[in-house]
Amino acid sequence: MRRAVYPGSFDPVTFGHLDVIERSAALVDELIVGVLINHAKTPLFSAEERVNMLLDATKNISNVRVEAFSGLSVDFVKRCDAKFIVRGLRAITDFEYELQMAQTNRIMNSEIDTLFLTTNLEYAYLSSTTVKEVAYYGGDITHFVPEAVVNQVYRRIEERKLTGTK
Ligand code: ADP
Repeated sequence: MRRAVYPGSFDPVTFGHLDVIERSAALVDELIVGVLINHAKTPLFSAEERVNMLLDATKNISNVRVEAFSGLSVDFVKRCDAKFIVRGLRAITDFEYELQMAQTNRIMNSEIDTLFLTTNLEYAYLSSTTVKEVAYYGGDITHFVPEAVVNQVYRRIEERKLTGTK
């Protein structure tokens, strides 16, 4: 079985992520979306919330699974019995970091290859960070994230403002 893992923070999932998910799921038998539990960052949403958003957004793609993980992506990929890591490339700015990651991962586990999908131009500008920035200042994020995610983002940002955390 040809299985790939698409790891990321997905804080929150955007239409750019979903575009990569749809296109890579069509290339493999099974795609596992790996939601990173990163203890070094304070995400807007917990891993469980991010997993639930992704489960809802991908419910119509039958060969997609969503799981949270912590630690190294290559170790998670191995546990999943997968051979590929999928990553999206938006612009030149992504390239340097992604190349470094792919090469590091390849040295840690030479059986795992990274597949890059170039962004659909429609979403080339889009990142979870800009979605949070726009929402923070009350802008419209309906063009960036699935409908079910929109209000969760506004609500969480308002809660953060009240408690004084950004
Ligand atoms: P990370 O913190 O690991 O970069 P992200 O959730 O921001 O996690 O992104 C996960 C992956 O999705 C990365 O490979 C990133 O380049 C890709 N990605 C993010 N936004 C887009 C987009 N708009 N179009 C295509 N790929 C994207």
